[in-house]
Amino acid sequence: MTTATQTNADLFARAQAAIPGGVNSPVRAFRSVGGTPRFLVSARGPYVTDAEGREYVDLVAGWGPAILGHAHPEVIAAVQEAAARGLSFGASTPVETELAELIEQRVAPIEKLRLVSTGTEATMSAIRLARGFTGRDLLVKFSGHYHGHSDGLLAEAGSGLATFALPGSAGVPAEVAALTLVVPYNDLDALRAVFAEHGDRIAAVITEAAAANMGVVPPLPGFNRALVELAHAHGALVISDEVLTGFRVSKAGWWGLEAETDAAYTPDLVTFGKVVGGGMPVAALGGRAEIMERLAPLGPVYQAGTLSGNPVAVTAGVTTLRLADDAVYARLDEVAALLQREVSAALAAEGVAHVVQTAGNLFSFLFGDAVAGGARDYAGVLAQESWRYPPFFHAMLEAGVSLPPSVFEAWFVTVAHDDAAVSRILDALPAAARAAAS
Ligand code: PLP
Repeated sequence: MTTATQTNADLFARAQAAIPGGVNSPVRAFRSVGGTPRFLVSARGPYVTDAEGREYVDLVAGWGPAILGHAHPEVIAAVQEAAARGLSFGASTPVETELAELIEQRVAPIEKLRLVSTGTEATMSAIRLARGFTGRDLLVKFSGHYHGHSDGLLAEAGSGLATFALPGSAGVPAEVAALTLVVPYNDLDALRAVFAEHGDRIAAVITEAAAANMGVVPPLPGFNRALVELAHAHGALVISDEVLTGFRVSKAGWWGLEAETDAAYTPDLVTFGKVVGGGMPVAALGGRAEIMERLAPLGPVYQAGTLSGNPVAVTAGVTTLRLADDAVYARLDEVAALLQREVSAALAAEGVAHVVQTAGNLFSFLFGDAVAGGARDYAGVLAQESWRYPPFFHAMLEAGVSLPPSVFEAWFVTVAHDDAAVSRILDALPAAARAAAS
């Protein structure tokens, strides 16, 4: 049991003795910003509270899921009711179909959907399915894109691997890594070259629908569409990874933002996580029925999970998606735009060269003159003065604002960021911008 008298430092020391690096997911360790991670004990609306009783305005939002803010009363009530009926049945439940139907209604390319527990499982299963469907082995991914931590997906990945400057992971057999071809993002010529050389062996291209694990790097207009056309011309599938963007940037994810434009595209498979679980472990893969029906028990591609479609977790997801109406997305956009503007003004006032990169309501900042034109790929992102972020981060934390502890992560707003929470962020900005300037 934790008590309010324990300090973050004490808790971290104890955690480090029991858990590798003191954390259960690497970026939480504050390695790239330094200092002691905050051990959180509760969260409500736009705020999180640490073990020392300090409250922070939260711009991490559980790394994305909490679009409604933390502990939304209707979500909590639904989860409590579901929990009281039983935690896990290992059998089908009505609420799983409800979640699948909700997603299928919103994202047209999805005709069938399977629930899993994490984004990693969703992308891993989507790749196996693409290989099973095409009878091919090679996978193409983009450098700086993160799709979870399965073996074939860690090559030049973003998120924690970008934070720690790791090219990949030990423990991945060379034979497995060799099946993944890595291409610079937003570079159709490079993609064409890879297809020209290996086209008949490529099962799928996996792409973040809009990249947000190397900081935010949106696809160039028409990139997703051209990518689908190119892949299809070679008999390959496209897996659009919306684990992070899905139901966060719009009611129909990134796909929804482009669906009504000239850039409209139809991926073969789409992966979801984060918001679809409303803060509980739910993720999904979906797509064309013809492909999805290759999954067991209908087809030969095996995929399973004791906790898949867990009734308590799925209830959190369904309730969250039902509450996420147009007004919610309008408010997320409004808060995101306001913060972009105000952070930018504060940095400019201190003479800190920077660029705001956005993808819907997701955003992050690149620091330094070298990136004045913005970044369209991982090499562009790495050219920034990333050392300006840790002092900025710590000045914000000191003032009671919790930002992602890495310059290579997006900032996440919630609909619970009301005027009071936003003013606390704005009040913290001048000192943080000064820290970034020095
Ligand atoms: N895909 C994307 C785009 C992600 O952002 C993430 C996690 O951040 C994943 C996949 C992996 O999801 P999980 O951490 O739930 O395994």
